[in-house]
Amino acid sequence: MKELNWYYPETLADTAKLVQQKNVFPHGGGTGLLLRKLSAVDGLIELSQLPLQRIKITGDFIEIGGICTYGDVISELMKTDPEHILVKCLHHSANTPLRNRITIGGSIAMFPPWSDLMGALIALDAEVKLLGKNSGDFPISEYIKDKNLHSESLITSVKIQNLPWRSAHYREIRTKSDMPIFNHTVLLKTADGRIDDSRLITVGTASKFTRLSEVEEYLMNRRIETINPSEIEKRVRLKFSGSRIDDPEYVNLKAGIELGRLIQKALRS
Ligand SMILES: Cc1cc2nc3c(=O)[nH]c(=O)nc-3n(C[C@H](O)[C@H](O)[C@H](O)COP(=O)(O)OP(=O)(O)OC[C@H]3O[C@@H](n4cnc5c(N)ncnc54)[C@H](O)[C@@H]3O)c2cc1C
Repeated sequence: MKELNWYYPETLADTAKLVQQKNVFPHGGGTGLLLRKLSAVDGLIELSQLPLQRIKITGDFIEIGGICTYGDVISELMKTDPEHILVKCLHHSANTPLRNRITIGGSIAMFPPWSDLMGALIALDAEVKLLGKNSGDFPISEYIKDKNLHSESLITSVKIQNLPWRSAHYREIRTKSDMPIFNHTVLLKTADGRIDDSRLITVGTASKFTRLSEVEEYLMNRRIETINPSEIEKRVRLKFSGSRIDDPEYVNLKAGIELGRLIQKALRS
């Protein structure tokens, strides 16, 4: 069996060099690496000694260090904003021991189709801070699209604007401990009884995630009491595929029904 080298850097400068070595990869919570064949991996960089476990909250933005776990994010945001979308989307994710291992950086880099994190980060127009071959700040949409940004680069933090959205999150699961088949994130702004802005993201579709632009258009400037769930369902045309989807049409139908309910829930939030 091939020997795997472990590195335990204590500074970002050392990590920036390590991450640019051939076949050497960051290790966050290790929960995704567990599922992967490691035959092409020569070394792993254990990140837990780096100063990247801080969550900075100001009036304007929230910056989450790359090695913060789902659990860290929930407990920190609960103190200041228990209704924050990141609390809602992460607190039912996986289970308690896993939430205490899964890191924000590892989850952004891996972006599994069941990710409870990525819908919210996409909806919030998050910015990812990288170190290594690609140093700097990048919109999360660009990081998802451009695989070159993943290479030889460490996610040191993710930054979102601290804005007061009405929000809700839904996970389509068969059992309580299941990874979601799909999940919806809803962000809404209202003014004078109307919808002023909306961000609707479904994760788990054939293209990994989909922005529900047709529903966003339907909601724009609409009086809240005139929002009709059946009009929302009609506008949800999501493509699902893969071994976890038995019947794509049924899943799309369910996604439409749940989105209608979720928008009502967000409006009550
Ligand atoms: C049984 C089980 C159930 C799960 N259920 C859910 C669920 O319901 N919802 C959910 O959202 N997630 C769930 N997860 C977690 C998800 O599947 C991934 O395993 C997790 O998001 C990966 O995060 P990590 O910190 O463990 O990353 P790791 O496993 O450490 O790394 C994953 C990948 O990211 C890279 N990486 C790690 N850290 C960084 C970094 N800082 N910068 C750049 N690259 C990095 C690694 O090199 C690797 O390629 C579940 C996991 C398991 C095992």
